[in-house]
Amino acid sequence: MKKVKELYEGKAKKVWTTEDPEVLIVDYKDDATAGNGAKKGTIHDKGIINNRVTNHLMKILEKEGIPTHLIEEISDRETVVKKVSIVPLEVIVRNIAAGSLANRLGLEEGTPLGKTVLEYCYKDDALGDPMVNEYHIMAMDWCTKEELDLIAEYSLKINKILSAYLKDLNIELIDFKLEYGRLSDGTIVLADEISPDTCRFWDSVTKEKLDKDRFRRDMGGEEDAYKEVMKRLLGE
Ligand code: 5GP
Repeated sequence: MKKVKELYEGKAKKVWTTEDPEVLIVDYKDDATAGNGAKKGTIHDKGIINNRVTNHLMKILEKEGIPTHLIEEISDRETVVKKVSIVPLEVIVRNIAAGSLANRLGLEEGTPLGKTVLEYCYKDDALGDPMVNEYHIMAMDWCTKEELDLIAEYSLKINKILSAYLKDLNIELIDFKLEYGRLSDGTIVLADEISPDTCRFWDSVTKEKLDKDRFRRDMGGEEDAYKEVMKRLLGE
């Protein structure tokens, strides 16, 4: 499969068309942004790590019955994926209070939540991805009730699978963001990425942050943290 034309350049990825109208190639960059583009930088080899970590986790999820857009990794930074029309929602799954939830509810980061929390944000950079609920989603017709129920079911199942898998690698899955799309026949599949850019990963023992918060919060050490995640997941 060869790249034909650049379709879109996002903050962390480029997307290319191929000879097959149902198939795209995603190309992961080292560019990093935070605060909706307010902070810009690069994290050396982030594109390679996010590409490989995403595909590794999506393969695990596929085996457990979660449909994803993944077709095939073709290079360190490039993956062939099924073309989807994206559902304009960011689905956030939280196990432990951190980030915006900790701020919003005045909780100390690291406070366990009595129950897994699911949140939806409307994917719109200009609006800063505002949080929405089921009523907004239905009113705006971003997806159907049946699609949203399936998205919620998949997201909670993904949380169970990934939390258990990562626990064995001494990584605590604090929270993460998912995106879904529709194939041309309407099937809902998991799309986008699952990486240290989109998840909070804490070392289970030391509670050290192994994710993009190191960049967002100017803590330093983000390159080593990303490398450590790849090493624990892929053994290299
Ligand atoms: P929070 O709402 O606390 O900022 O983020 C919750 C979780 O979702 C974190 O794991 C964070 O990485 C992820 N997340 C939420 N929004 C975005 C986004 O726009 N981009 C990325 N890369 N991750 C996001």
